[in-house]
Amino acid sequence: MQVDLISITPDAERLIEEAGRTCYQSHKRASEASSAGFVRMLVSRGHTSVLEHAKATFRIRGISRIASHQLVRHRLCSFSQMSQRYVLQEDVDAVVPPRISASEQARKIFDDILKASRQAYTELVKLGIAKEDARFVLPGALETEIVLTANFRELRHIIEIRGSRDAQWEVRKLATELLRIMKLHAPNVFADLTINEEGVVVRTDQDRQETKTEVRS
Ligand SMILES: Cc1cc2nc3c(=O)[nH]c(=O)nc-3n(C[C@H](O)[C@H](O)[C@H](O)COP(=O)(O)OP(=O)(O)OC[C@H]3O[C@@H](n4cnc5c(N)ncnc54)[C@H](O)[C@@H]3O)c2cc1C
Repeated sequence: MQVDLISITPDAERLIEEAGRTCYQSHKRASEASSAGFVRMLVSRGHTSVLEHAKATFRIRGISRIASHQLVRHRLCSFSQMSQRYVLQEDVDAVVPPRISASEQARKIFDDILKASRQAYTELVKLGIAKEDARFVLPGALETEIVLTANFRELRHIIEIRGSRDAQWEVRKLATELLRIMKLHAPNVFADLTINEEGVVVRTDQDRQETKTEVRS
């Protein structure tokens, strides 16, 4: 899996502060150093609609169609995905779940069915069957490429629910990668979300008390 940030709102946290201060008419309190505390205050109070002013776009490669199917359930994102109707799938790699890789017997079953479905696909295409129909024999393990655009509020939502212990391992890995990147570019928007030693996204409320007073003023 490879996740690359290809575009992000410039000065995103400053933009969020500028928009958010409209609510409190506190623009005069903005300074070079004020956006960090202000953004953390918004997040800690759940005033996260303000985060929608900033967005990011990622190119995601090497995830399975199974994972991408989960991703595209997020209705507030925009997606562009490699088409199995137009792009020949003969040479596309497959994602192998670690639990299958770890067992010689399971890996053999996996590889055999992958080989058979690839062969069937190639033969169908050779027979003149359209790619959009030949793809019906392909497994969900095949890799795909997808571009995702989402605002920061939706990114937080995706990272929280797809990074949770309950989420499927591959989509959880994607969520943690998104979080790792977003922490570099918008550290205060994502400050309360961390990745624990098990690779699970957890949320802390450490800012709640520290930022209360700023809201009142
Ligand atoms: C652990 C886990 C297990 C899952 N298992 C299943 C499963 O077995 N079967 C299955 O079908 N899906 C399953 N899903 C997918 C899940 O049901 C959602 O479709 C998916 O997570 C998208 O989340 P969402 O609807 O919250 O978010 P998004 O579509 O990203 O929307 C973000 C938020 O916007 C709001 N919103 C968006 N659209 C609407 C709307 N029309 N009306 C009101 N509010 C809206 C909601 O607050 C929503 O949380 C699972 C998800 C997880 C994380």
